[in-house]
Amino acid sequence: MIVGDGADTVLRVIPLGGLGEIGLNLLVLEYGDTAIAVDCGVMFPDEQMYGIDVAIPDVSYLRALGDRFRAIFLTHGHEDHIGALPYVLPGRSVPVFGTPLTLGFVRDRLREHGITASLVPYGSDAPRVGPFTVEPFAVTHSIPDSVGLAIRTPVGTLIHTGDFKLDQTPLDGRLPDLRRLAELGGEGVALLFSDSTNAERPGVTPSEQSVGSRFATIFRQATGRVLVTTFSSHIHRLQQVIDCAVRFDRRVALVGRSLIAHVAVARDLGLLHVPEGTLVDLAQARALPREQVVLLTAGSQAEATSALVRIAMNAHKQVSLDPGDVVVLSSRVIPGNERAIGLLVNHLCRRGAIVHYERFGSADERVHVSGHASQEELKLVLNLVRPRHFVPVHGEYRHLVRHIALAREVGIPAERCHLLEDGDVLELDGDTARRGERVTAGRVFVDGKGVGDVEDEVLRDRRHLSEDGLVLAVLAIHQQSGDIVAGPDLVSRGVVAEEASPEVLEPARDAVLEALAAINPESRTDPAEVKEEVRRALRRYFKRFERRPVILPFVVEM
Ligand SMILES: [Zn+2]
Repeated sequence: MIVGDGADTVLRVIPLGGLGEIGLNLLVLEYGDTAIAVDCGVMFPDEQMYGIDVAIPDVSYLRALGDRFRAIFLTHGHEDHIGALPYVLPGRSVPVFGTPLTLGFVRDRLREHGITASLVPYGSDAPRVGPFTVEPFAVTHSIPDSVGLAIRTPVGTLIHTGDFKLDQTPLDGRLPDLRRLAELGGEGVALLFSDSTNAERPGVTPSEQSVGSRFATIFRQATGRVLVTTFSSHIHRLQQVIDCAVRFDRRVALVGRSLIAHVAVARDLGLLHVPEGTLVDLAQARALPREQVVLLTAGSQAEATSALVRIAMNAHKQVSLDPGDVVVLSSRVIPGNERAIGLLVNHLCRRGAIVHYERFGSADERVHVSGHASQEELKLVLNLVRPRHFVPVHGEYRHLVRHIALAREVGIPAERCHLLEDGDVLELDGDTARRGERVTAGRVFVDGKGVGDVEDEVLRDRRHLSEDGLVLAVLAIHQQSGDIVAGPDLVSRGVVAEEASPEVLEPARDAVLEALAAINPESRTDPAEVKEEVRRALRRYFKRFERRPVILPFVVEM
């Protein structure tokens, strides 16, 4: 590894993910012969990334560091901070530090991938790795047990806020440690990394408690079943649903694997309190009168394969909605998912359900609050810490720009604010900071066959296309009835030798028609559902030729 002159006295700050996008958080800090990482996250694919399960940061730079890379420090248990561990640790098994809940979620993830690792809870002594000493401090966020990090280095103290908001009435009473931040600020801080997610949002993010009072009103008025969906890791949100269920004499059934797993970990650690007899399984819930039931589901982003979408389409095997049932979408609409969520709400309304979601009702009727700090909280942290240098993290480019504008407002000089993107290098020695030569950074797409199948997207697609070919399926559906008005027309390239022949394509076409006939008409009005069905049918069909082509369905709505 070529490092510039004075490498022994320079701290190198190298974001490999999370700066310029939401997700993929991975920050490398390097001094002399030691490098550590803060967080190691994934990004979930949007509709553009066909057939891809998840994206992880390109870690070729970490790989090149070899045994100089010595530890990972986690801030909290969200997938965009821990999800890439199963892909990074097999390359180099370093100790992973975190709080108990974070490590609990990591342990589950690693077990799914059959990986063991050294997971070390933050203890009373701040862990020391080479020249770095890392001290966690409490912050509040949309997952319990979140921390920021104060990292002592030979060039001064660095503070990383992690994802945070400053909730003054947190559900578990664990306050953000502003006192520690102020003390560290008083001692002098060389560099602050701070969460930029809500840098565009004025004011202060409301407390998590505010959602609970809204829930109580909804539960009080509900006459049928109540179905609440949220992120499965949002333990405090789940707690508020459970508290309301107990208060209004309802039983709670959990729908979805991730939800059941996360609830188990949080209960084991005493971070989620569920009175005896409150949880029932789905079969028991079905036998209860509707006004005694709460269903908790994941799938808050209207993912095509989620339980909630199936329920909304009336296609779930165990759960159906009746008119008068209440559905609460207690989560943020992640940009890019607006359309899918809009369609989901349409379907829920068709079932006769009363739907509460983010854009429904006034601000004091909210069923969701953010876990990230708004502008006034961001300024407060900047003022408490008064860092010599500032690097906004965790945000798209516009969020980073806005966060720097906030730093300027509170008097941090422009030349001390550094807008870094993935792969940029900032070299810090004592007082001054300068840009170093960029390193390799980017996204790597994983398509679900697990570790060892991680390649650059282009290479992966090329290999996939060259070995297995490509199938295009084009069809038009009627927007209201879900009838197939044209197609499916199939075009295949490089799949099988006799692919142009009707003997291959006709049965493939029939397989698609058959699959679509088997789902209910309402599901057929949803292009995302139709695409998923087409993909599934063709994948099944081409298996008989021992081929796994890239399948691109195009669905036109008429
Ligand atoms: Zn987070």
